[in-house]
Amino acid sequence: MFNPSQRARMLRKKLIRDNKYLLAKIGGAGQDPGERKVLTDYFRYKDYIDKPGWVKASEKKKWSDKFLGLRKNGFKRTEFQNPTYSAAYNLKRSLAEFSKVFTMQVAGCNYSCNYCFVPRELNSADKRYGRFFSAKEIVEEFLRIKKDSKEAMNVIRISGGECMIIPEIVIDLYNEMMKKSEDSYLWIDTNLSAIEIMKEQKNELEKVLSQKNVGIVGCFKGTVKEDFSLITGAKEKFYKNQFEAAKFLIDLGADFYAYVPAYVYDKKIAKEKLESFLFELRKISKNLPLRLEILKVEDFPAAKINFELSEKEGRAISKTNQEYVFDLWYNKLLLKYYSEEALKKFCCEIEL
Ligand code: SF4
Repeated sequence: MFNPSQRARMLRKKLIRDNKYLLAKIGGAGQDPGERKVLTDYFRYKDYIDKPGWVKASEKKKWSDKFLGLRKNGFKRTEFQNPTYSAAYNLKRSLAEFSKVFTMQVAGCNYSCNYCFVPRELNSADKRYGRFFSAKEIVEEFLRIKKDSKEAMNVIRISGGECMIIPEIVIDLYNEMMKKSEDSYLWIDTNLSAIEIMKEQKNELEKVLSQKNVGIVGCFKGTVKEDFSLITGAKEKFYKNQFEAAKFLIDLGADFYAYVPAYVYDKKIAKEKLESFLFELRKISKNLPLRLEILKVEDFPAAKINFELSEKEGRAISKTNQEYVFDLWYNKLLLKYYSEEALKKFCCEIEL
C-alpha cells in the first residue's frame, strides 16, 4: 500500500508546465460512457439527467420528488447531487440550461481505485497520454464547442484524475471563465486526498469556492479505513484525510456534495460500516449525509481492466451486492436519522 500524499507531490511536478495543465487524452482511450460522448480528444460531455421524461417535464415537475428516490431495480432515478440541479438552484435559472456538462480530466491521480473507469495510463501524468492546456485555451475550446451545441451548455466540469493535486487549474480556470463567459458554472470533482496541497492554496481557493457559480463534489473511498485501503491501494492511515478535506472545503464556504461508491466489503457487517461512516459525516455537518450520493459502479471497458489489475494486487472489488448497499443507505439508515420532509429534497436544497 502506498502513501497518496507522496504520490500527489510526484504527480504535481508532471501535471503543470509553464502555467499549463496536463489533460488526459480521452478520445480513443476506451472509456465509457466518456467514449460515446467525446467532443474532441481532450473534452467530453456528460448529461447527468438521463431519466426518461425529464427533458420534456415541466420545471415544477423536474423539482418534484418524481425524479428523486430509487427505481424498482434498486438504483437511483437521477444522480441526486449534480451540477444541473446545483447550478439552477443557486443561480435561480432553469434546469435545462445546465444539463449538458463540458468535461475534462486532469491526467493524473494519486489513488489507484479498483473500480476506476479511467485507464491507468491516463492517470499517470504521462504526457504521451495527454496534452498541456492553459486555462485560456480550455475556455476557448468550451466556447467554440458551446457555440455549435444544439443543447445549452453552461457548465464546465473539472474531473480526473485528481484536480486538487494542482488546485491552480481550478483557480485559473474559474478566473478565465469569469472573464469570457461569466454566466457559466464551474463543477469540480475531487477525491479529497490532497489536503496539504489544498491548504497551501487556501486563500485563492476560498475566493473561487465560495462563489455561487461553483460547486464541488468529494468522492469518499470506502466507509471504513480497511475498505478505503482495498479500494484505493493507499495506506489505511490516510482514510481520515478525506474527512479533514471535506471539512476544509465546507469551511471555505464551498457548495459541497459527496459520493461514496456502493462497495462495502463483508455483507454481514455492511450496515455497521455504513452507519459508522454516516456518523463521521455528521461530525462534519449534521446534514452532510443528505448531500451524499451512493455511486453505482459500472463495468465499463477500462473499469473491467482495472478490476483485473487490482485483483492481481490483492484488492479485488467487493462482492457485496450494490443494490443491497443502496437499500441500506436510502431505505434504512437515512430514514433512521432524517425526516421524510428532508428526504424529499434535492441535495442542493439541503443546508450544511
Ligand atoms: S476513481 Fe477517481 S480517485 Fe480513484 S483512481 Fe480513478 S480517478 Fe482516481
